[in-house]
Amino acid sequence: MKRLVNPSVTREVIDRFSFHFKKQLGQNFLIDANILGKIVEAADLSKEDGALEIGPGIGTLTQALAEHAGVVVAVEKDDRLIPILAETLRECPNVWVHHADVLETDLHRLFADRFAGRKVSVVANLPYYVTTPIVMKLLEERLPLNSVVVMVQREVAERMAASPGGKDYGALSIAVQYFTEPQIVCRVPKTAFMPQPNVESIVIKLKIREQAAVAVQDEKIFFKLVRAGFAQRRKTLLNNLQYNLHLPGGKAMVLQLLEGSGVDPNRRAETLSIEEFARLADGIARFL
Ligand code: SAM
Repeated sequence: MKRLVNPSVTREVIDRFSFHFKKQLGQNFLIDANILGKIVEAADLSKEDGALEIGPGIGTLTQALAEHAGVVVAVEKDDRLIPILAETLRECPNVWVHHADVLETDLHRLFADRFAGRKVSVVANLPYYVTTPIVMKLLEERLPLNSVVVMVQREVAERMAASPGGKDYGALSIAVQYFTEPQIVCRVPKTAFMPQPNVESIVIKLKIREQAAVAVQDEKIFFKLVRAGFAQRRKTLLNNLQYNLHLPGGKAMVLQLLEGSGVDPNRRAETLSIEEFARLADGIARFL
């Protein structure tokens, strides 16, 4: 099989099919074999496993996944890539290309149809314009996943893995860390792609937790609280919760809640640990 992960082979395929990159679909294809190797190694796949790839492009990473996993499902939105994938992956009988927008795909159905009984990892070089909605869909739908190994914009990876206290720590850090244990795999320079993106990238591994990082009485309240707390980063918790949580008792109730949970009302959300958010959320759940 002719490996695609190389600038001249990628260029040859693209020219032969008269393919033009669409920036609005986040099309930056991987051309660096070293980075490809690191992604596949981090995914730690065996022939018993399933791999879900989101956005296979011309099939560069898909070829490598086909060698390491038992079954690969690759969900691609761009119809112009479907005939290209039919050719580049024709020697990979264990790959299923699913032509769809991943955000509109019933993934539980797809898993039942293609991955029944297998451990599944998501492995992808994600389109950067929809990274967060894709990752949150994968996590919130509680798919039976082992891990999510994805290439994302550097800033997004840093936010996912951030600890309390820093500028990167926010609602995304808490959401991702609630469901997973993030681990940065490697940094990726712009030169690893064709065409080169404007931003640097990072490969991050999100190991799915068997149980959420904290036990909360009501998950909806927990995430609503986190969003409200970070509504305006520079403001105190008291301010943000007062204006964004819309509790019946107004400021007095927010104050009572914060003090009852042992959290200083003048702190900012970026200083709170996930456990402190959980305690506060349970306080609210008791009130409502
Ligand atoms: N995996 C290939 C590689 O590494 O060379 C391509 C990665 S490229 C960064 C992102 C891919 O995601 C493109 O093929 C693009 O067409 C596809 N894509 C963009 N939005 C999508 C969506 N909502 N659902 C599925 N695929 C999408």
